[in-house]
Order: sequence, then structure tokens, then C-alpha cells
Amino acid sequence: MRLSKYFLKTYKEAPKEAEVVSHILMIRAGMIQKLAAGIYNYLPLAQKSIAKIEKIIREELDKRGCQECLMPAVQPGELWQESGRWGYYGPELLRFKDRKNAEYCLGPTHEEVVTDMVRRNLKSYRQLPWNIYQIQTKFRDEVRPRFGLMRGREFVMKDAYSFDVDVDSAIKSYYLMYDAYTAIFKRCGLKFKAVDASTGAIGGELSHEFQVLADSGEDTILSCSKCDYAANVEKAVSDRVLPAADRSCVEEMKEVSTPGQKTIEEISAFLKKPAENFIKTLIFLVDDQPVAVLVPGEQDANEAKIQGALHANSVWPADEETVKRVTGAEVGFAGPVNLKEKIKIVADRQIYSRVNLVCGANKTDCHLTGIDPERDFKADLIADVTFARTGEKCPHCDGVLEQFKGIEVGQVFHLGTKYSTPMKCNFLDKNGKESTAVMGCYGIGVTRTLAAFIEQNHDDKGIIWSPAVAPFEAVVIPLQGNNEKVSATAEKFYSDLREIGVDVAIDDRDERAGFKMNDADLIGFPVQIQVGARSVENGQVEVKVRRTGEKVLIDIDKTVDYVRDLLKTL
Ligand code: ATP
Ligand code: MG
Repeated sequence: MRLSKYFLKTYKEAPKEAEVVSHILMIRAGMIQKLAAGIYNYLPLAQKSIAKIEKIIREELDKRGCQECLMPAVQPGELWQESGRWGYYGPELLRFKDRKNAEYCLGPTHEEVVTDMVRRNLKSYRQLPWNIYQIQTKFRDEVRPRFGLMRGREFVMKDAYSFDVDVDSAIKSYYLMYDAYTAIFKRCGLKFKAVDASTGAIGGELSHEFQVLADSGEDTILSCSKCDYAANVEKAVSDRVLPAADRSCVEEMKEVSTPGQKTIEEISAFLKKPAENFIKTLIFLVDDQPVAVLVPGEQDANEAKIQGALHANSVWPADEETVKRVTGAEVGFAGPVNLKEKIKIVADRQIYSRVNLVCGANKTDCHLTGIDPERDFKADLIADVTFARTGEKCPHCDGVLEQFKGIEVGQVFHLGTKYSTPMKCNFLDKNGKESTAVMGCYGIGVTRTLAAFIEQNHDDKGIIWSPAVAPFEAVVIPLQGNNEKVSATAEKFYSDLREIGVDVAIDDRDERAGFKMNDADLIGFPVQIQVGARSVENGQVEVKVRRTGEKVLIDIDKTVDYVRDLLKTL
């Protein structure tokens, strides 16, 4: 490609809203352009890289027997009614009506559509297993679209869905995809970890996220210092030793006046007791029903664990009105004793190793002291609903948990029959009996993977591509475009390299040498062939490796072979 004709404009600065390096560099390198919040044009440079990532994905999936299809982005609301998700997917689902007033949505994911597609073709166990995938544009009306392609509203996802005759074979399909993902992200040149993940609204026990390790990541991962245990903090557990409560001096329960003391910090300062002595009572709406969740005062409630413990589809912090209604008090004075409405109480296990605690009295400006969790209230469920923390013991060995930041580039789920049961995706098993398909679903954020690569591969000059995902593997830069010998030599490299299949660009723009070299580093061409007047006179050119900055003088007649071999090592 000739950069003089390329749809490219580079920038010295990125707009202020670009906070993370991948966003800044993709804008500066002329890869993306914002159209609306979280919605971008992928310009030719970005699209070339995206196509290379997609090619890697296709190769690894096709090799494992997966079959590519393409499903519509617009999905009928009816299917979502059938799966039950229309009611609880929330505002991320962009819903609209057509001219006949029928309800539709823009697909954030395709479980419903694929399950409908498969049930119409599936008859016998002999047809399975199937793994169907697509690479397609998704839309999620994210609350806070940000970080460029990392959290967009419209983005490209590869989504795959497996259908099996039983759980054993579904688990095999799951691990086949786990292996495919490992191969894909390795080939993309990413440093990543597969971590235990919470299944969220999807339910079930088995899920892994593929996390690219980067400080800018929005996810927190805890991983063991010794063994290979690693989990998203939403899911991570630690081996907490919970001592029995010291019952040698259990106090009486007493109501105390605590005017205006709403938060744990305020009440802890007011009563001069550490946060550990408090029960934090939080009201959540779990599948639209209010539930009180009790956690130790110094810790936070883990919504993913609450959802898992209650096998719920959705968990939201309750609104002020609901809190007032169920507690009979202003927000800030909730507690498990004498709740006004009889609602479900979920208590974190750790609370039972403590006595003489303080909690809200369900009365504005009042708290209760001397609480003994065993004596004073009855929880409907005792579970682990807090976060494991750095420094705590690994659940599998005597190592300790360490914390990392990660960017989730992919996730695999064992779904069971969550969609196939309500949507009746059935087949006749080998005894001629009707059976329900067991499913898995598997997503890769293609555009997020591109951003994650840049987060891990850049320096102060710009992007550092690996050839596998680079928009171009190499660039030829005639440093003095008006020098005939220089441009003739550069043109010859350009055509010879293309001839042997190198994806090469030539910077034949009418610009100064320094400008072109800066752009080459900003865009991040892995190999840069600098053709300068002086070296050409000596029968040589300079070949630069972007990653190391290393430059070598190579004889003109050996350059094409040298570049071809060099690319194989990068
Ligand atoms: P997150 O927790 O980051 O919101 P998710 O768990 O909701 O993501 P999945 O439903 O697992 O996402 O989707 C599969 C993949 O799609 C994710 O692993 C991620 O790489 C990508 N993805 C999800 N949301 C976005 C987004 N808003 N922008 C870009 N990529 C996304
Ligand atoms: Mg996910």
C-alpha cells in the first residue's frame, strides 16, 4: 500500500477524553475515529489488524471442527421472551419497535438466536456435537463506554455456541474451546492468564475468563504465588480460617442513639469502635425481590457471589424507596433485627466468628449494640458473599493470593440447559427418547483484543506491533523522496517484498524524513527499511526493528531475503 494514497492521518495529540494508552495511540496513529459515545469507525489500518486477528480465530476454530455462520444483529424480542431474558437483561439491551409495533433488540449476544436456529435443524443425537460461531458486530448500551475500543457500545465479537448430547460431552466441548482460546491469544502475542470466572446471569459453575495482564485493566484478578490458581476477584475464594466467636463476655443487645451517623466510617468514629465491630447491612433487589445482605463492616458485598449463592438472574442495589419501605428507616440504619418487612437475610460466614457487634436498628438515627449473630437474628442463608483479598491464603496450597489487573478479552461458559430447556432445543437420544441439548457459549472481544495488544506493546513513540497482528508487517521509507536513486531503490523493495508475500507499505508521501520516521514508530510497523541517499550510494540500506530499535546496514541485494527471515523471528 502506498501511504501517499492511504486513508491515513496521524496526530501529535489525542483528545483529552482518551485516558488509556491504546485509545490515545489508536487515535494518534489514525486507526479509529469516534462517531458517537462508544461507537467508532475502524479506519483501514485498524481494519487490517482486526482482519488478522479474525483470521487467527478462524484458523484455530475451524481446525477444531467449529462451523462459521452469520446471524442477524437485529433480534426479535419474542425470542428473548421465550428464554426469559427480556425481563431482566436491563438497560444494556437496546430495544426498539418496528413499524408494525413488534419488539426488537440489537444483539448484545446470540444465545437466543442460535438456540432457535439449532432447534429447527436438530433431530437426532447422531447430528451432535455442533459448534457454531460467527464474527459479528454486537451492541451493548454500556453505562460508561470508555477507553476507546476497550469498552465500546458497538464492538466486534466472535461468539461460538456448542450443542452436545450430555454434560460429559459438553464439558469436552468446553475444554476444546479453552484450548482454542489459549492458542489464539498466544498467536496474537498476548501475555494472558485463564482465570476462574463467575457465571453471572448465565448460571452454572464452570467458566473461565482470558485476562490480558495490564495495569489499565478494569478487572481484578487474584492469583496464587505458588500454584496455578487464579480467579477474577468476583469469584476468587481464599482459605480463611474462621475462629469460633469468643463468647466469654457476650453483651446484652442495646439500642443507642446515633443521630445522622449513616456510613460505617461515621458510626465507627462516633461510637469509637473499629469497623470490624460492625455488621454492614445492604439491601439488594435480587430478581426484583428485596434481600438483606450482611457483611463484616470493613468489607464489601460481592454481587457476583450473592447472585451465585441465590441462583439469581439479577442483583441490583435497592433504590432508596425500597430501603425505606423494608427497614422502616432512612438509608443508613438497616440491620437484621426487627426489619419492618420480612425479607430474606443472607449473612456472610465471617460474621459468625464475631460477637458484640453493632448494626442499624431499622429506626432512623438509632443503632443496636451488643449483637450476637447466633442469638439475635436468623439468616436464611449463610454463605461467602465478600471478596477474597491480597495476602490471604490460596484455597489449594500454602501460597498466598496476589493481585493483578486484567483486561477480559474472552470468556468461556458451560451453560447446561439454561437456554435449551425454555426454548425446547431437543433431540431424540439413542434410545429414541426426547432429550435436551447441553450448551456452552464462548466469546472473544475482537476489537478489545486489538486494544489489549496495544496496552501490552507500546513505548513513548507509539505502538509496537508483532507481525501476526500488525496492519502491515513492514514499511519501506524513502528518506529523500526527490532523490531518484533513493525512490527507485525503495520502489524496487516495495514490489519485491510484495512479490514474496510480505504485507508491506511504502511511505511515498511528500514529507520530511523525520516526519516519516516518527509516523513509522507511531503506527508501529515491525520492520522499517530506511532508504537514505548516503547509504544507497554505498549499496546499502538501514533495516530497523521497531521493538528493539536496533538498526543494521544491509547490502541492497540481500535486503529482501533479510527482511523475510527477520519477520519470522519477530
Ligand atoms: P465485561 O465484564 O468487560 O463487561 P462481559 O463479561 O459482559 O464483559 P461477555 O458477555 O463475556 O462480556 O462477552 C464476550 C467478550 O466480548 C468479552 O470477553 C470481551 O472481550 C468482549 N466485550 C464485552 N463487552 C465489551 C465492550 N463493551 N466493548 C468491547 N468488547 C466487549
Ligand atoms: Mg465476560
